[in-house]
Amino acid sequence: MTKDGAGDRTAAAARDAMMHEIARDVRLVADRLGKDEFDPAVMAALGRVPREAFVPEGRRAAAYVNAPLPIGHGQTISQPFIVAAMTDMLALRAESRVLEIGTGCGYQTAVLAEIAARVYTIEFVAELGESAARRLESLGYTNIAYRTGDGRAGWPEHAPYDAVIVTAAAETPPPALVEQLAPGRRMAIPLGPRREGQELCLLIKGADGQVARRAILPVAFVPLVSGPRCQD
Ligand code: SAH
Repeated sequence: MTKDGAGDRTAAAARDAMMHEIARDVRLVADRLGKDEFDPAVMAALGRVPREAFVPEGRRAAAYVNAPLPIGHGQTISQPFIVAAMTDMLALRAESRVLEIGTGCGYQTAVLAEIAARVYTIEFVAELGESAARRLESLGYTNIAYRTGDGRAGWPEHAPYDAVIVTAAAETPPPALVEQLAPGRRMAIPLGPRREGQELCLLIKGADGQVARRAILPVAFVPLVSGPRCQD
């Protein structure tokens, strides 16, 4: 993909440091997560995705800081720890088909695509979705399908999904997404009325279609928008 120059070695070292920080953070919130380490497949995926390729040019130095970063259009690339936590919650397997709402810069999409068989991702802001698609294609990902539009309606043509991940916050889980999740499978979604009161939630759909919900961590995501709005 890239030549093994000094820049790559710096990025690899920074990525290593990020992984150590994530491993430490998992232990700090082990009681909330119900585990003290993430699935090794999730950590391996984070170790393979070049995060510096997903942040704006001027922010490359901060690519591996364990914090969210602005990506334009008032949106942010999620903090690496939260990307790891949400991916882990989905209990993905190599054959999984995943629906992602909120492509953003595509970093979370890449992490999913490293583990799962196929990722269907929907972004509301066309410019963000198109640039994420170009970026992911240039990085060599061939198992991702892209769509522009309101992700709250899901992508019924490819349902049911083995996992659903929503990277913007809603007050309640969008019914179409619950509907398109296969029985026995999981959804990760930030839920809450305001940015201050959100919880990252794990939803598990039972064989009978009933959904069990567990709040995992307090989070602060941008809202899942419900219609065209002014982007800055
Ligand atoms: N996973 C992304 C997160 C980006 S922030 C990343 O790490 O880069 C949330 C994203 O959700 C934004 O790009 C926003 O435009 C998008 N979004 C908000 N509401 C949406 C909706 N109804 N449908 C699809 N995407 C939406």
